[in-house]
This record gives sequence, C-alpha cells and structure tokens, in this order.
Amino acid sequence: MELRDDRGIAVIGGGLAGAVLAWRLTRMGHPVTVLTGGATVARDATAVSGGLVRAFETDPMAARAAALSLAELRADAGLRELAGYREFGSSYLLPPGSTEAAIRPVLDLVAELLPGCAELMDAAGLKAFRGLPPGTLAVVEPAAGCLSPARLRAGLLAAVEAVGGTVRAEAVTALAPDGELRTAAGGGERFRAVVVAAGPWTPRLLRSWGLPDQGLRAKQIQYTLGSASQLPPGLGAFVDETSGLYGRPDGPHRMLLGLPTDRWDLDPGAITPLPELSAQVAACAAERLGLADWPGPDARTATAADCWAPPDGPGGLLLRRLLPHGPLFTFTGGTGGAAKTVLANSRDAATALAEAFPAS
Ligand SMILES: Cc1cc2nc3c(=O)[nH]c(=O)nc-3n(C[C@H](O)[C@H](O)[C@H](O)COP(=O)(O)OP(=O)(O)OC[C@H]3O[C@@H](n4cnc5c(N)ncnc54)[C@H](O)[C@@H]3O)c2cc1C
Repeated sequence: MELRDDRGIAVIGGGLAGAVLAWRLTRMGHPVTVLTGGATVARDATAVSGGLVRAFETDPMAARAAALSLAELRADAGLRELAGYREFGSSYLLPPGSTEAAIRPVLDLVAELLPGCAELMDAAGLKAFRGLPPGTLAVVEPAAGCLSPARLRAGLLAAVEAVGGTVRAEAVTALAPDGELRTAAGGGERFRAVVVAAGPWTPRLLRSWGLPDQGLRAKQIQYTLGSASQLPPGLGAFVDETSGLYGRPDGPHRMLLGLPTDRWDLDPGAITPLPELSAQVAACAAERLGLADWPGPDARTATAADCWAPPDGPGGLLLRRLLPHGPLFTFTGGTGGAAKTVLANSRDAATALAEAFPAS
C-alpha cells in the first residue's frame, strides 16, 4: 500500500488539547495535520467541559500553568471572544487542616504571574457556605470565570485551517514507533513527529497499538445544571474541598454543581450518567448552600471522561515522549482541569516540539 511521507507534525485528537497545540504550532510556522476522532468528538471532554478557569491550584506546577493561561486570556480580547469568556470570580475552600504557611509559596507564585488576583481569607467570611469545618481557609479570586472549551476548540481549528494547516475528521487506527500511522480511510502516512492528544481515549489507543500507556488513565466526570428559586448572593464559582462540591453560575438562578466520581478506566465513548451521584450533589447543595429546590424541573446532567496523569510523575497536561529518542509524544493528562491550563501547557509543548523538530 502507498505510504505518504509528510514532513509536518501530526496531532491525533482534535479536543481542546490537540486544537490549542496545533494552533500554537501553525503560528510558529510548522505544517500541522490534525486527525480528529470522527464520531467520538461529540462525547469528548471538550464538548462537555464546565470550562471553569481560575489561577489558584494547590499544586505549584498546575498553579503556574493556570495563572499564565488566565493572564493570556485576560490580555487577549480576540481569544476571550473566541472562547466566550465570562468573569464572575471564584473561591477555593481549602481542605481541612490546610495552613497559610503551606500554601503561601503558591499564592506568591500566582501573585507574581497575575498580580492582585488571589487573596487568602477565613472562609467564615464567605456567607454563601454553611456548616464549614472551623478554621476553613479560602483563596478568593475576583478575576476568574468560565470559557466554552467547545467554542475555543472550534475557533482554533478553523484558525489552523485558515493558515494552511490540515484538519481531517478521521480516526487513527494504527500508529507505529517510527511515526507511521493509518486512518480509518486506509492509507499509511509518515510524519516527522506524531502527538497523541486523544484525551481519555489515549491509554486505550496506546495499548491497542502496542505502545506504553505511560500510566495515563480515563476517569469519569459528571455535573448537573439546574435552577434554584434563590441563589446565595455573590456566589460565584467555587471548589469546596471540605465537601467535594464544586460549581459555577450558569445564568440567572442557574448553577452548575458537581461532586467527583470514583469511576476509572471506562470506555470514554460509552459513559452514562450516574443518577445516584446527581442525588448526592442535590443533597450536598442543600446542606452546604441551602439550595433546597435545586436542580428543579429543567435539570440536565452532563458526563464524560477526562485523562488523568500518573500520580507518581509530573502532573497535568504535558508533552510526554512515548519512546526514547522516537518521534512519538502524548499531550494529555488534563486531570479534570485542562481548560484552565491549556494555553500555558500548549505553549510549553509547542516550544519543545519546535526545538526538537525545527520547521524546514
Ligand atoms: C465533565 C467535565 C467537566 C470539566 N470541567 C472543567 C472545568 O470546569 N475546568 C477545567 O479547567 N477543566 C474541566 N474539564 C477538563 C477539560 O475540559 C479537559 O481536560 C479537556 O477538555 C481535555 O481535552 P482533550 O483534548 O485532552 O480531550 P478530549 O476533549 O476528550 O479530546 C480528545 C479527542 O480525541 C479524539 N480521538 C479519540 N480517538 C481518536 C482516534 N483514534 N483518532 C483521532 N482522534 C481520536 C476524540 O474524538 C476527542 O475529540 C472538564 C472535563 C469534563 C469531562
């Protein structure tokens, strides 16, 4: 069978990670081909994501990436428009036992990258929350909000095509260690470098191609959008590590709320909602926020998987080389938070690829 030899970089997966990486690479002058997953796209993390973005994370690497990403978004009106960015502030209620001394280095890092954007306070001052453990601390960020990962992905893939990049709705069916790949359409193609950015599909795909899965894992995420007759005044987005509840506004009287799942290693294309988890979220919302009538009759539960980075290495959305000295990489591992960090993570990844494979 004929083998097409392409001197560019292939990105497998056109979710948020693949789209932003491809956009960065084309802006650096690299010929890029994005192979999106065909039918799986509608069920991917990017299509379903809640899109909450803020700068503070307890992990310093994640905080750096989140703060740099939010700084880029806030400085670029075109990106904000493309992403449908809305700002409403966010509070991060730290886990019981957290101390100011323990998080001070991360707060200082965030303050350096995004001055004045994160402030530590006693969560007792956050009137929206009930029954918090005594001494709970919170990081409050006035400059945080949400974007639409699906809109941003669509806009950036269009931008890739506008400058001569290629976006093909074809699933990759095989990938060899030398960079030769095959798609459902048939023929073989070889690229200078191939980046697998297939989100939660990545570990399964790698194993099916006889490649190491790098300890990456798929985990289900679920939230419910619903209405309440009255929301606590001033309640923006929040993550409450004392209960696990997280949420963000979704219009007047509407709130997106969720709790973490413990569902690992599922087929990302066949995930179904967990009704018992939705009931737990409603109970937690009543207890923590006093929302007795949330989610109401117009409730909608959304669910998908995301790709988790291995716990014993550097976490988050990173460029990871698949085999020593080879042309294969992964760019995934968003761990439920890559909408926040993708702008900075993709800049680092594109810079590393451009150094390793200079555009001819
Ligand atoms: C329910 C939910 C809520 C979230 N909320 C937030 C949030 O509030 N804030 C935040 O920061 N992050 C959030 N995230 C995380 C963030 O949205 C994800 O980390 C990010 O969207 C992942 O993008 P991705 O491109 O890595 O994966 P995906 O979006 O899953 O994209 C992977 C792509 O690979 C494609 N693919 C699969 N197989 C193949 C193949 N064989 N060939 C070619 N392509 C293939 C698929 O079609 C898919 O389009 C959330 C995630 C979920 C699931």
